[in-house]
Amino acid sequence: MARSRVSGFILGDVDAQHRPRQHKHVHLPLPRRSRGDVADARWAGAVLGSIHDAPGTPLNLHPTQEELQQILDERIGGITITQSHWLTCFEIHHGQVPGYRYGRVFLAGDAAHIHSPAGGQGMNTGMQDAFNLAWKLVAVIRGEGGQTLLDSYNAERHPVGAGVIGFTSLLTKAGTLKGGARRVRDAVIQAASSIAPATRKMAGNVEETNINYRDSALAVGRRLRHAKVVAGEHVPHMSDPELQKQLRAACGQDNTGHTVLTCDIRAAGQVAPAAGGPGQTQLLVTADNTPVAGYDAVIADPNGAVARRFGLKTGGRVVIRPDGYIGAVASLNDTTTVAAYYAKARS
Ligand SMILES: Cc1cc2nc3c(=O)[nH]c(=O)nc-3n(C[C@H](O)[C@H](O)[C@H](O)COP(=O)(O)OP(=O)(O)OC[C@H]3O[C@@H](n4cnc5c(N)ncnc54)[C@H](O)[C@@H]3O)c2cc1C
Repeated sequence: MARSRVSGFILGDVDAQHRPRQHKHVHLPLPRRSRGDVADARWAGAVLGSIHDAPGTPLNLHPTQEELQQILDERIGGITITQSHWLTCFEIHHGQVPGYRYGRVFLAGDAAHIHSPAGGQGMNTGMQDAFNLAWKLVAVIRGEGGQTLLDSYNAERHPVGAGVIGFTSLLTKAGTLKGGARRVRDAVIQAASSIAPATRKMAGNVEETNINYRDSALAVGRRLRHAKVVAGEHVPHMSDPELQKQLRAACGQDNTGHTVLTCDIRAAGQVAPAAGGPGQTQLLVTADNTPVAGYDAVIADPNGAVARRFGLKTGGRVVIRPDGYIGAVASLNDTTTVAAYYAKARS
């Protein structure tokens, strides 16, 4: 993996005394034993400080407590380290392998992409890589998936890794600005934090809930008229917690297979399940929960909340992948799209 170094930090797990000064803001993890006024409270936490300013300044591989104290005195003040449990240095690199699949070898997590810890996305991204890959491997081992399915891992996750690297590098640069640029940054953050769409976008980036695989070969079917979802997007969350619980239970938290959700706002039993792939769960969401032949589960949704959430006004079908992403969206009278999704996964 080609890496480029961004900056170096000293990381310490220390006990410290903190005397807050006027107009000084010190950001520390919550104290283990904080009570009342924080003045002269004893803190146990991690203190993170940049240890070099100029590009090319060598990294201090063995930082001492005295050196960390000096940095705190110079740059913050009012913090006295009383005990150091461990001190270390770490460098921020960023880099990404050119591909996540080499024949039978698949790369995921830090083996595939490394970046700044700003935003706390490394583990999250790696876990989502694993989530994306695991069910595909299971499908191939079961004889239900082919090369297109395996290749879709790189196609779907490589751009996500590249996006995280770009975003966290930007956060790191913004976080280590100095002088006038720093003041501009603070003003921009303050202004943006009161704009709801901006904060939603930021939260979606950091939480990685705004990821989609719309361009994937596994995203099958055109956008339906009125539909609020399209193949490649994550299944939306239901605002009704009871419905959400029932959908989760029907899809199965440990499910390594797909769910074909058929939404029919008429009474149960009016529409047959779609022909699909092996091991799938057939789920019907309709006006009442009368069991219907061919469906593994029926959820009563007399008010049509699920259909509304998906934007399937006249009903429809949604193929839900084991990782929670949508493989296909089809109308009720469409007899080809669901089957086309499974054919694609098998190819
Ligand atoms: C300071 C810091 C703060 C962070 N904060 C966050 C955060 O808040 N949120 C977040 O999501 N992420 C955070 N991260 C990133 C997160 O820790 C990593 O992205 C994540 O741990 C990577 O998991 P991984 O399983 O891919 O790799 P690793 O955790 O590196 O696991 C790889 C494992 O493989 C083992 N191994 C290596 N070589 C071999 C071999 N040849 N044979 C057998 N075993 C081997 C290693 O010993 C290790 O146990 C942070 C990282 C740093 C440095």
